[in-house]
Amino acid sequence: MDFSIDSKLEADHARLQAFVTKHIVPLEADEKNFDAYGNIDLAVLQSLRAKVKQAGLWAPQIPIEQGGLGYGPTGMAVLYEAMNYSIFGPAAFNCAAPDDGNMYILNKVATKEQKDRWLQPIINGDVRSSFAMTEPAPGGGSDPSMIRTTAKRVNGKWVINGRKWYITGAGEAAHFILVAKTGDAARDGLTAFLFHRDDPGWHIERRIGIMGPEEHGGHCELIFDKMELDDDRVLMGEGKGLKVTQVRLGLARLTHCMRWLGLAKRAVNIASDYASNRSGFGIKLIDRESIQMKLGQAAMDIEIGRVMVMRAAWRIEQGSKARQDISMAKIHVSQLLNRVTSDAIQICGARGYSTDTVLEWIYRYGRQALLVDGATEVHQMVISRFLQQANEEFWEWGVGQD
Ligand SMILES: Cc1cc2nc3c(=O)[nH]c(=O)nc-3n(C[C@H](O)[C@H](O)[C@H](O)COP(=O)(O)OP(=O)(O)OC[C@H]3O[C@@H](n4cnc5c(N)ncnc54)[C@H](O)[C@@H]3O)c2cc1C
Repeated sequence: MDFSIDSKLEADHARLQAFVTKHIVPLEADEKNFDAYGNIDLAVLQSLRAKVKQAGLWAPQIPIEQGGLGYGPTGMAVLYEAMNYSIFGPAAFNCAAPDDGNMYILNKVATKEQKDRWLQPIINGDVRSSFAMTEPAPGGGSDPSMIRTTAKRVNGKWVINGRKWYITGAGEAAHFILVAKTGDAARDGLTAFLFHRDDPGWHIERRIGIMGPEEHGGHCELIFDKMELDDDRVLMGEGKGLKVTQVRLGLARLTHCMRWLGLAKRAVNIASDYASNRSGFGIKLIDRESIQMKLGQAAMDIEIGRVMVMRAAWRIEQGSKARQDISMAKIHVSQLLNRVTSDAIQICGARGYSTDTVLEWIYRYGRQALLVDGATEVHQMVISRFLQQANEEFWEWGVGQD
């Protein structure tokens, strides 16, 4: 068993960490660097991204020949955690959702022509993208088999009708992946399509307000009214929509966890700093056992999350889908993010609740972690299903090569 990382990854990790500390964290202190929705201002982001490219740290998750650093899931676990020490980090390195998950799935299943047209501009940072699956009731939410947006073949074209909502980034995106119903079969009844912002037959009905800071382009409700697409817009093949969704969400959930661990570490550091410098009733806060218990618990929760994420990442690199590992990691890390941030706010007193630190930003943002990419209860259901199906095999260690 080897839990260490190699020297190249450690060197890149150190460079990335130094970049975040020097060039990104300071931007958080000036409200001029924020857009109207609490995210980094797009012009500021553009110049930051140019610096990231210059530093040779752009898109670490993308193969080298396509313009990235070529890291797989275990390397990403190290780097994503480090970049989300700043709330602006993932967008700066082109590792933010939903582009990150969209780049992954396109690289995995798109044809060469589709990659050239739909993927490479996202990798380059020239366009943004969205993934459109969730629908208002009675359509598909937690249960994708309830998807009602239809794609029907009419005169050699796919004609799309329906409605999606909470589609992250849709207001800024040019490239979209859409999941629609093309048949009645439980497993093969969905198909994924590619469409462009400029394609006729769809529009954004509204940008939906949320409690937290928003990704660029917000969270939008989309209407499809006879949108026509050619066959070359089908991703992976007719009837493969559920597969596209599962493959995309598998790693996307884990990359969420990697980033959330960075935010949780930041929260602990802010609370530790405050507690180390603040005295009350004759002693430093950090010398109180009740504070030490909160910080110790937070550090342990984060470390458990890191181990869970790293093992899931490793299993993916070994060829496993790691579905139960990913579900467990997603539950644990989303919950610890909420707990740790709440405790950090408590330790910092009024300052924790103020906008003088990023704690309140992380707290508002963190609540969505319990819902997006599968609510906690859905992942618990998935884990339980694996437990019932696999019984004793569920607990197997897995034996390596001697
Ligand atoms: C900030 C944000 C960004 C999002 N971005 C996107 C996006 O880019 N693209 C996209 O397609 N969607 C997006 N979503 C939607 C998100 O994926 C869905 O909210 C999620 O899948 C749950 O679906 P739902 O909201 O319809 O909840 P429902 O399916 O209506 O479920 C409601 C609640 O019921 C409970 N529940 C559901 N199933 C079970 C079960 N089996 N057992 C026990 N309890 C259960 C859970 O507590 C759940 O929260 C986003 C949502 C948010 C909040």
